Amino acid sequence: MKTLLSFLLLTGAVWAEPQLFPAAEPVQGRVLLVAEDGQKEAAALAGAGIECLLSHAKTAEELGQDWEWALDRYPWKSSSSQTGNSLTVTASKPRVSLIGLGERAHLAWTARLNGVICIDPSPRVDNYPRWGKKTVGSGQASKVDPSQGLAYERSLIASEPLVLVAPETSDELCNQFEGNVHKAAGSLAEANSAVQKEVRRWIAIQQPLPVIGLPDTKFLPSPNWGVRSLGDKIDTLVIHSTVINTLEGTERAFWDDKERRVSAHYVVDRDGTTVQMVDERRTAWHAGVSELEGRTGVNDFSVGIELVNLNDGKDPYPEAQYQAVQRILQDLRTRWNIPDEHIVSHAAIARPVGRKSDPLGFDFEKLKSMLGPTGRSRP
Ligand SMILES: [Zn+2]
Repeated sequence: MKTLLSFLLLTGAVWAEPQLFPAAEPVQGRVLLVAEDGQKEAAALAGAGIECLLSHAKTAEELGQDWEWALDRYPWKSSSSQTGNSLTVTASKPRVSLIGLGERAHLAWTARLNGVICIDPSPRVDNYPRWGKKTVGSGQASKVDPSQGLAYERSLIASEPLVLVAPETSDELCNQFEGNVHKAAGSLAEANSAVQKEVRRWIAIQQPLPVIGLPDTKFLPSPNWGVRSLGDKIDTLVIHSTVINTLEGTERAFWDDKERRVSAHYVVDRDGTTVQMVDERRTAWHAGVSELEGRTGVNDFSVGIELVNLNDGKDPYPEAQYQAVQRILQDLRTRWNIPDEHIVSHAAIARPVGRKSDPLGFDFEKLKSMLGPTGRSRP
């Protein structure tokens, strides 16, 4: 009986359907949208995995009431832990972002909450009085702590609102705002428009979740990441070589290089030392123009690993590096369904064909033989 039970448990573990996101986190974000109409925008956000409540408030007071109503819709999160005889229960407020749209954008500004987004194509500065940095929220106008994996742009201040303005807005006008002003084209109702992407990215940093990735691994968050839609399938692993000769140099490039704007989920040094730089929920920018089996934009459905290597065809990939990739891949396969044929080189997917050659000299057959049977059938 015991054997049968453990057999069932074992096979259950092996054959469990891979989860895109842990069941406890089905929603990437929750939003109260204050707008004149807002139906289309709310539906578009819902399609992107963000729960959206609508407010038609016309005054700051009405908005305050709607905000309280929105918070009441969601239960406080509580967790308990027991040590000996004492039970500790901790509770935290639900996180809801506030978006003001068009004519109502400045109302959201007046709420003086953290996690506010104002989408105002033609803002008038007198609608956006200065916040007074020290009185924001609970008195903390602190920069996002990058060690928390929340770095959007390290120069941005997360407790100040994000103001999205039309691309033609003058720099002079933008400079008069106290928040983080970005120029973005398109509509919130349009899937993956620049406006919607900015909003989803902002909400992602306002909803801090534990990083999804390799356990016990240094996490050095790169600001170079994009949002994946909830339900986007991750089924591919792209392996690169850095050309940069050191781990430190690569970290700096993914962390600080504002020109090239590149990143990968993992960087593996020659001795196997591994650093994670992007949460797997998010898209890292490693593949560029690319295609796999007719699907373009491989970044959107892949995890990227960079191996420290000169990519000259002579620089060897030491055993420890193979073993580290094996370890990452085995861990990835507890979350995502990545069949052997989707373990690919950057060279194989870069377009036009021949644009990239990395990782030159890496032995994919050897890696696959190290992996053994995947334990999963393809859907
Ligand atoms: Zn590459």
